[in-house]
Amino acid sequence: MEVHVIGAGLAGLAAACRLAELGHAVILSEAAPQAGGRARSYLDRRLGCRIDNGNHLLLSGNRAALGFLRRVGAESSLTGPAAPVFPFRDLASGAAWSLRLNSGRLPWWIFSPRRRVPGTRPRDYLALARLRRAGVDDRVAALIGDAGPLYARLLEPLAIAALNTLPAEASAQPLGAVVRETLEKGGHAALPRWAALGLSESFVDPALAWLRARGAEIRLGERVTELRPGQPAILAVPPWAAKELMPELTVPDAFESICNLHFKARLDPGEAGFYGLLGGMAEWVFPRGEVVSVTISAANRYLALSPEEIAARVWAELVRGFGLDAALPPARVLWEKRATFACTPAQLRRRPGPRSPRPGIALAGDWTDTGLPATIEGAIRSGEAAVMALLGGGPALAK
Ligand SMILES: Cc1cc2nc3c(=O)[nH]c(=O)nc-3n(C[C@H](O)[C@H](O)[C@H](O)COP(=O)(O)OP(=O)(O)OC[C@H]3O[C@@H](n4cnc5c(N)ncnc54)[C@H](O)[C@@H]3O)c2cc1C
Repeated sequence: MEVHVIGAGLAGLAAACRLAELGHAVILSEAAPQAGGRARSYLDRRLGCRIDNGNHLLLSGNRAALGFLRRVGAESSLTGPAAPVFPFRDLASGAAWSLRLNSGRLPWWIFSPRRRVPGTRPRDYLALARLRRAGVDDRVAALIGDAGPLYARLLEPLAIAALNTLPAEASAQPLGAVVRETLEKGGHAALPRWAALGLSESFVDPALAWLRARGAEIRLGERVTELRPGQPAILAVPPWAAKELMPELTVPDAFESICNLHFKARLDPGEAGFYGLLGGMAEWVFPRGEVVSVTISAANRYLALSPEEIAARVWAELVRGFGLDAALPPARVLWEKRATFACTPAQLRRRPGPRSPRPGIALAGDWTDTGLPATIEGAIRSGEAAVMALLGGGPALAK
């Protein structure tokens, strides 16, 4: 069968690869001149080097993402520490510590004061069990915000990073799914991982080469403006674009931004290769060769600040946290205004499954109902689920 995959972000690439693997003819159309969507690398002229649009952190329990990389021969393109270690610095107190999980399923790290979050007691970690039972209407802050230093020093930053929504508003249910698939499985499933060279080098270029080698037709710079009746298709575009092409869909319609800052500077990567920062605007710091990259999630709260203001404030935090030179180096501020849908109960209810109301057309994208927040893992799973929905048929799909 010939299938048209519309959108070459990670959901569309995953769908195209699965279709090609199953022997189907694939036409992949992407509106932008390059593939990758919200996960891409580019040459930044101001900094004079290649950077990613945003730091993307995975965990080793992201089985679909790792499976996708394995399929396209790019599994070894990820890097990260050999052990599940998460170093933190608190800008307010100057304290520095590392969370050190143990590899196995039994979480004995919780009973070791040298491994768990400082200031916490083993019983505080029962908050993780509450997350497991979270319903869609349970908000993160209301459900686990009483966990004291464990919340302030680990669960809150984790929730903001994973959900890209402030915990007072965010639904705890997708966070529970993340914890179940990573932390709860043991440290071997919570190893931090990221693209060693760049997102495109890991996730995009190898997938395009793999598809081309299997005869897929890849059309970059081709925006699809209508769905052709009778042509099996997977719609793997962002929710607003899906709504334009299929107005009868209900899709998430509220979004959160992510601000990434890239400074031309060097910082010791330490034993883990990244740092969590507390008590400031900067949340995660990735020293990558000649560039130090910083992530601020749920960044709508800072939209009133200019890029210059935010760069100056974040650099001042890095100076304070790591003793860097005070002079502001060349910087690039990349603000993805619609980085993900807002992970609130109301928005979660607007996520459709992979079956669309139209026969022969399936839906993919991190915004479809994967049970996970809008992440690489969710995007890749959604692409694969869309293939199953398309090929498996069902009430809404033509045979
Ligand atoms: C700054 C930032 C940081 C992030 N950090 C992390 C992280 O640390 N960990 C993590 O797991 N996830 C992270 N994410 C989320 C992750 O990037 C996304 O979940 C994932 O890339 C979404 O992929 P997608 O294919 O669903 O959507 P998209 O990447 O949006 O792909 C959709 C594609 O469809 C194309 N398109 C739109 N309209 C049309 C049309 N009419 N015709 C043809 N093509 C069209 C678009 O150009 C785009 O390429 C981050 C996202 C951002 C923005």
